Amino acid sequence: MSAQILDGKGTAQAIRAEIKEDVDRFVAETNVQPTLAVILVGEDPASQVYVRNKESACVKAGMRSLMYRLPATTSNDELVKLVEKLNRDETVHGVLVQLPLPKGLDEKRILDLIDPRKDVDAFHPENVGLISQGRPRFLPCTPYGIQQLLIRYKIETAGKRVVVIGRSDIVGKPMALLMLQKGLGGDATVTVCHSRTTNLPEIAREADILIAAIGKAEFVTADMVKPGAVVVDVGMNRVEREIVNENGETEIVSKLVGDVAFDEVKEVASWITPVPGGVGPLTVTMLLNNTLKGARLQVQGR
Ligand code: NAP
Repeated sequence: MSAQILDGKGTAQAIRAEIKEDVDRFVAETNVQPTLAVILVGEDPASQVYVRNKESACVKAGMRSLMYRLPATTSNDELVKLVEKLNRDETVHGVLVQLPLPKGLDEKRILDLIDPRKDVDAFHPENVGLISQGRPRFLPCTPYGIQQLLIRYKIETAGKRVVVIGRSDIVGKPMALLMLQKGLGGDATVTVCHSRTTNLPEIAREADILIAAIGKAEFVTADMVKPGAVVVDVGMNRVEREIVNENGETEIVSKLVGDVAFDEVKEVASWITPVPGGVGPLTVTMLLNNTLKGARLQVQGR
């Protein structure tokens, strides 16, 4: 039997509508418009698309979006000055530096400089520390979105075996921490795998919930999935595929695929996220959520 689809796109739309209502109420009560400042350095085409999506999502949710597009030749000091200016600006509630930064810029130094109360990506060591202690201020957008997706589909995590493949600071590690937390959407028994893991397929097959955040096209195959498991695919990989077009000619097309071999894994899993339309739309949605939270915290003086 084919797996049911965890519809990230539809879930994201529902959450965005709720956020818009919350933003409207917040603006009416406080006269403060939640504002996200996004800094993009350089011309990376994927980053340009991501920041455009963030900007438009903000505006649709009734928030203000400030875009700072800087040339790839920007120096560390110039970037530091801009972040410090945005930290001081009381009308700005979220500051986001789009990654990756061009070579020569000190990513860690810049991210550490963002005021933790405006750190809507939740990358600052203070925010990471709060998450690991189970008293988060902000939650990192992609893992937070995945947790919300599981909660909204009433997929039980308590007592389940969760296997996360990938240990990045952006996805894998915080994902594992969220699944481990006490309470709704947590309380799981978590294993984290990475490129040095031995017997990875065997470990993956133990998962009730398998979360792939690897960055390798169609890495997770059907033999790595326990029948009936829930499979969440974080990967976004551009690949070239040969297809036969309507004229019967073979052509090469560029396609977005996940870290999971969707067609075969869906025959084994009970639930699965598609790519696109799965995890991706939730990431931007949780950024909106965090920006509103930042505005609330700052209005409350915390
Ligand atoms: P990353 O920083 O490159 O981390 C990849 C992780 O996968 C690393 O921990 C790496 O292990 C592990 N890995 C690589 N090859 C492996 C292998 N053969 N076996 C087991 N583990 C392996 O990537 P990321 O930022 O976490 O992103 C992962 C994927 O998610 C990418 O496709 C990215 O585009 C996508 N993504 C999507 C969203 C979204 O909104 N949908 C958001 C963020 C990222 P080591 O640590 O040992 O090197």
